[in-house]
Amino acid sequence: MKKIILTGDRPTGKLHVGHYVGSLKRRVELQNSGEYDEIYIMIADAQALTDNADNPEKVRSNIAEVALDYMSCGLDPEKSTLFVQSYVSELTELTFYYSNLVTVSRLKRNPTVKSEIQQRGFHSSIPVGFFTYPISQAADITAFKATTVPVGDDQLPMIEQAREIVRSFNSTYAEVLVEPNVLLPDNKACMRLPGTDGKAKMSKSLGNCIYLSDTPEDIRKKIMSMYTDPDHIRIEDPGKLEGNTVFTYLDAFCQDELFAEYLPEYHCLQELKEHYQRGGLGDVKVKKFLYSVLMEELAPIQARRRELEKDIPAVMEVLHRGSRKAKETAARTLSEVKHAMKIDYFD
Ligand code: ATP
Ligand code: MG
Repeated sequence: MKKIILTGDRPTGKLHVGHYVGSLKRRVELQNSGEYDEIYIMIADAQALTDNADNPEKVRSNIAEVALDYMSCGLDPEKSTLFVQSYVSELTELTFYYSNLVTVSRLKRNPTVKSEIQQRGFHSSIPVGFFTYPISQAADITAFKATTVPVGDDQLPMIEQAREIVRSFNSTYAEVLVEPNVLLPDNKACMRLPGTDGKAKMSKSLGNCIYLSDTPEDIRKKIMSMYTDPDHIRIEDPGKLEGNTVFTYLDAFCQDELFAEYLPEYHCLQELKEHYQRGGLGDVKVKKFLYSVLMEELAPIQARRRELEKDIPAVMEVLHRGSRKAKETAARTLSEVKHAMKIDYFD
């Protein structure tokens, strides 16, 4: 069986370091491993509209931004198909047919959607499109017969839902669809990177992000005002690591080799943590180190972005080309689906 990747992001803003450690970095490694037959990376504009129906301009303007983030992180259009969801109208058709295989009570149990509904203050006025977006995500994944979906752990319920739809479709109609597997980051800090405010998830919608394209000065300011241990008041006080966002970010980004260059009094992160817990290590020093660690990773990405930004039409052309290719693949699956459902009257 072919090894196929599908994953993507909502164009509700530029991409942040949570996306980077949760999914983007992994995608680039998988792409360059040469182990995958096909890789599809989707900008989920139709999904973004499910909770931004009144703000199409926001979604539109972020298409190129997300594509720039992709390519500056190393996604290569020669190796990965980068495409825009709404161009592939077959996905909407699949969603409609899959809806018959999912109950309202099943959708209501999805913990990620539940917390997003709360977060957005929808109460009882939840847009139907938003409520059902896990079905549309199942369509995105299965249209490409994806075997592997690299995502952060907030996406686990979506993959589970997709697997259920596949099983239900295949047993009701015919063995057409492929059950996808989730690929989570192996580092716990990366599965769901917290926001700079210490909240459980860095998320565009919560405004607690460090964006890949933030200026070094903005990144420095964000790090300096980051949430640490509220009881660590004087330098000599012992500090806590649990819930201390600065240390969570170091867990996500720090490599021990970086100490030699930026903080030579220590050899490894474990030593730094122990000193913090004993007392005698100030937050500012740790934050300055985190800044260096983060910039080490982001500086080359930002340099590539500046180059790519010079030619936006070329970036849009990459998406157009990828979208045409994605549409062809999805159309093949849709016709198999319609055949299995016995609604292929004129073929
Ligand atoms: P929105 O607030 O609009 O939902 P978001 O910041 O949650 O935006 P998405 O586009 O929904 O971002 O997520 C895209 C991908 O990035 C998903 O695979 C998701 O798991 C991953 N991801 C998003 N935020 C984080 C995070 N803080 N830590 C790890 N992975 C993340
Ligand atoms: Mg999200």
